[in-house]
Amino acid sequence: MTQLSDRVLNMATSATLAMAAKARELKAEGKDIIGLSLGEPDFNTPDFIKEAAIQAINENYNAYTPVDGYVELKDAIITKFKRDNQLSYERSQIVVSTGAKQALANIAAVILNEGDEVILPCPYWVSYSDIVKLNEGVPVEVKTSIDNDFKLTPQQLEAAITPKTKMIWYSSPCNPSGSVYSKEELRALADVLQNYPDIVVVSDEIYEHINFIGTHVSMAQFEDMYDRTVTVNGVSKAFAMTGWRIGYIGAPEKIARACNKMQGQVTSGANCIAQRAVITALNESPSRVQFMIDEFKQRRELILGLLNDIEGFKTNSPEGAFYVFPDISHYFGKTLKGYTIENATDFSLFLLEEAHVATVTGIAFGNPNCIRISYAASQEQIMEAIRRIKQAVS
Ligand code: PMP
Ligand code: GLU
Repeated sequence: MTQLSDRVLNMATSATLAMAAKARELKAEGKDIIGLSLGEPDFNTPDFIKEAAIQAINENYNAYTPVDGYVELKDAIITKFKRDNQLSYERSQIVVSTGAKQALANIAAVILNEGDEVILPCPYWVSYSDIVKLNEGVPVEVKTSIDNDFKLTPQQLEAAITPKTKMIWYSSPCNPSGSVYSKEELRALADVLQNYPDIVVVSDEIYEHINFIGTHVSMAQFEDMYDRTVTVNGVSKAFAMTGWRIGYIGAPEKIARACNKMQGQVTSGANCIAQRAVITALNESPSRVQFMIDEFKQRRELILGLLNDIEGFKTNSPEGAFYVFPDISHYFGKTLKGYTIENATDFSLFLLEEAHVATVTGIAFGNPNCIRISYAASQEQIMEAIRRIKQAVS
């Protein structure tokens, strides 16, 4: 049998997807697993979006779409960027992709050459590091502290920049920490970047609407950052459309054109029915999905309250997304019910085996002291999961 490429052999498996698969497997064996590993809303896609998809099927939308997306979808994205983010983009600056994940992969592929560095404030979303490496880039992980709400400081950014720095990638609201950068915090980072005009910023805003403090700020809103910021977004999270696979970017035209070219050779345009449905989703007011955000907010209060009651779980106060990222290093070096806990992976596996609760190790997000718990689950499931965790560690 042929030898596989170094590229794939050196790549880590997506830890979020791997844990979700493991949880599914154990469930199929009849174990009562509560899955808090995957960042996936547990709501159904709203009816008004489903109806648009059904209509598109009946209207025979079945052919290849333009590689960078239907014009009507680009226009809906342009409207959305204006309405929600006060950002002005032309059609030539928009590219629709098969999820924000492909949008990110396109960006890495069109910007990185071998050895180029990408600054990743830790914790970062699980796939950033491997997407960068896959494209021969070098992820430069910058540790942030739970005491600073896991946010990158201007001093840390300055210290991480080298002549090889090509980009910085971050998400706000952040997966996995839930941190939301304020306008002042982003401005302070932008001020550092003033001295480095060639560094591109990738602002991953996929959790934009799942924000409990009110204000979402886009890096591209700063006039001096607009021309070198790629704004990444998608419908997976706020619209409960993970499986529909639609994400998009607003970018400097040169980068958008390059992503279009890349996608044209790799996947072609995203799914036609899903694109039609997303036109409807984005043209509606975000208030149509507010009920989900309200529910996430309640779950956040619930899970933070319950976790605070367990010894050795130190949390920040997540202001967005649907994750908590507790520091559980208190348990390192201890033996719990016969399991020796040396690191976050051991702890996460212990919770799976002993409490039958699936979480994800922080190592996958660049932070070895934490685990990620998704609260995109019902309040009953959250209460039961945390009860089991408490019992397992007691
Ligand atoms: N960015 C972040 C921060 C995420 O959590 C995810 C996970 N859904 C993605 C990008 C990719 O989203 P999708 O491909 O489903 O649009
Ligand atoms: N983004 C989600 C997560 O972090 C979905 C899984 C994935 O795409 O990796 O869990």
